[in-house]
Amino acid sequence: MHLVWFRRDLRGLDNRALSAASEASVPVVGIFIETPEQWASHHLAPKQAGLIKARLEALREELRAQNIPLVVERAADFSQSAEKVADYAHRIGAAAVFANKEYELNESKRDEQARVALADKGIAWYAYDDRNLFAPDTIKSGKGEPYKVFTPFKKACLRALDGMDASPRQKPPKREINSAVDAIFSQLKPIHFDYPTEDVSDWASDEKGILAHMRRYCREQVADYKRQRDFPAVDATSQLSPYLAIGALSPRQCLARLQEEHADWREPDTGAATWLSELIWRDFYQEVSAQNPAISKKYSFLAWGESVVWDNDLTLFEAWKAGKTGFPIVDAAMHQLNQTGWMHNRLRMIVASFLTKDLLIDWRWGEDYFMSKLIDGDFASNNGGWQWSASVGTDAQPYFRIFNPTTQGERFDSDGRFIRRWLPALKQVPGKHIHQPWQWADHYAQTLDYPRPVVDHATQRKKALAIFEAAKNQPQEQTP
Ligand SMILES: Cc1cc2nc3c(=O)[nH]c(=O)nc-3n(C[C@H](O)[C@H](O)[C@H](O)COP(=O)(O)OP(=O)(O)OC[C@H]3O[C@@H](n4cnc5c(N)ncnc54)[C@H](O)[C@@H]3O)c2cc1C
Repeated sequence: MHLVWFRRDLRGLDNRALSAASEASVPVVGIFIETPEQWASHHLAPKQAGLIKARLEALREELRAQNIPLVVERAADFSQSAEKVADYAHRIGAAAVFANKEYELNESKRDEQARVALADKGIAWYAYDDRNLFAPDTIKSGKGEPYKVFTPFKKACLRALDGMDASPRQKPPKREINSAVDAIFSQLKPIHFDYPTEDVSDWASDEKGILAHMRRYCREQVADYKRQRDFPAVDATSQLSPYLAIGALSPRQCLARLQEEHADWREPDTGAATWLSELIWRDFYQEVSAQNPAISKKYSFLAWGESVVWDNDLTLFEAWKAGKTGFPIVDAAMHQLNQTGWMHNRLRMIVASFLTKDLLIDWRWGEDYFMSKLIDGDFASNNGGWQWSASVGTDAQPYFRIFNPTTQGERFDSDGRFIRRWLPALKQVPGKHIHQPWQWADHYAQTLDYPRPVVDHATQRKKALAIFEAAKNQPQEQTP
C-alpha cells in the first residue's frame, strides 16, 4: 500500500507525488489533514478554507474513479499532523508515504518531523518538487547563487525552458481494488471542517471546471493580457490564482496550454510572454521564501526595513480594512476583497502602497489582513507583494517612488467604472470627479454618504520619505 499526503497540491492530474506512488502496482490511498489551529495562526481565509473543502469533495470523487480513497482527518497543528500521518500509514500497513514539498519554514519542519516519525515505524518518505515551474535552488546565477532580482531570474528561467519537457503528467492508471481499500472506502465520512469556511459556489471546484477555465483563458484572453491587465474594470486577468494557491492547478498545466495556444509565447511584449512572466513571479517569490527562512518569521528582506518607525494608527487601519478611507480606488478595492476574497493585482499594489506609505502602517498588518480574506492567499506571493510595496523586499519598489492613489485611480479606472461597481454611494458623481468626489460635492453643495479623505496624500508622502530615509540611515544589523 502507498499513502499520498495531499497538502497544497489538490489535483489528480499532473501531480508528481501521486504519479510516483502509482508507479508500482500496489493500492494507493490519499490523505488530507485539516489543521485548524495552524491555519488560524497563518490567518487562513475562510474563503480559502471553503475552496479547499469544496476541492477535497470533488477530488475525492475524481480519485474514487481511480479506486483511490481520499481520507480527511483533523489534527490541531502541523506537528500533530505529521504524527497523524505516520500513525495512519502504520495502521493501513503502508510501505511508503509520498508528498509534494512545501518550502515555507513551518511546512518544512512538519515534513522533517513526518520523515523521522515514519522512519521510526520503518515506513519510507518520498518528497517531490512539484509546486513550481522550477524547484527552488535550481535556477542560479553564474556564480551559483540564488537570484535576488526578478529580471535576471526570469531570463534564466526562460533559458532553462529550452529543451525542458514541461508536459503535464497524466492521471495514474486505475488501481486494482482489494479488501483493504474497500474497507477504507466504506469508512469514508462526509468532509467536515472545524475551521470556518465561506461559500465558494462562484468558483468551480471540480477538475473539469477548473481546466475549462484555464483553457478558455489561454485560448481567448491571453493575447490581450499585456494591453488590458492593469485595468480592474476589465476582467482581463485569469483569476486562476485561487487554484494555483491550493494546487488545484499546476503552473506546468498553465504553461503547457499557453505554449499550445500561443506560438509567440517567447516573443517579448506579447500577451503570452507577459502572462508567462507572471507565472515566473510566482516561482520567484517561492524561491525567495525558500532561500530566506527569516521571511517566514516576518522579517523584512532588507535589514533596514526593521528600522522603519511605523505610525500604526488603529483607527486608520480600521478605515483601510473597511474601505472607508475617502480614496475611492482604495475603498473600491477593499470592498472587492472583503466581498469576494479576490482583488485585482493593480489594486493590491495600490492599497498596499496606501497602507504603508500614506497611512504609515506596518506592512505585516496588511499582509495578515490579506491572508485572512484572500481566496488565493499564498504565503510567498503575498509576503513578496507586501515587501515589494513597502520597499523592504527583494527587488522592491524604491521607497521614494510613492503611488499617488488619486492619479493611480485616474490612470487605471479613468471613467470610474470599477469604483462605481463597488461604491454605490458614488454612483451620481460625474466621471471626471469620481476620484475626488468631495471636491465635486463641496463645489455643487451636494451631500455624499462617503467619508472624506482620512489623510492628506502630499503631507503623508513627505512624512513617509522622512521615515524611510531615517530607517535607511540607522546602523543595520543583519536580518537573522
Ligand atoms: C500586496 C500583494 C499581495 C499579493 N498576495 C498574493 C497572494 O496571496 N496570492 C497570490 O497568488 N498572489 C498574490 N499577489 C500577486 C497577484 O496580485 C495575484 O497573483 C494576481 O492578482 C492573481 O490574479 P490572476 O490569477 O488573475 O493573475 P494573472 O495576472 O492571470 O497571473 C497568472 C498567475 O500568475 C501568478 N502571479 C501573477 N502576478 C503575480 C505576482 N505579482 N506575484 C506572484 N505571482 C503572481 C498567480 O499565480 C496568477 O494566478 C499579491 C500581490 C500584491 C501586490
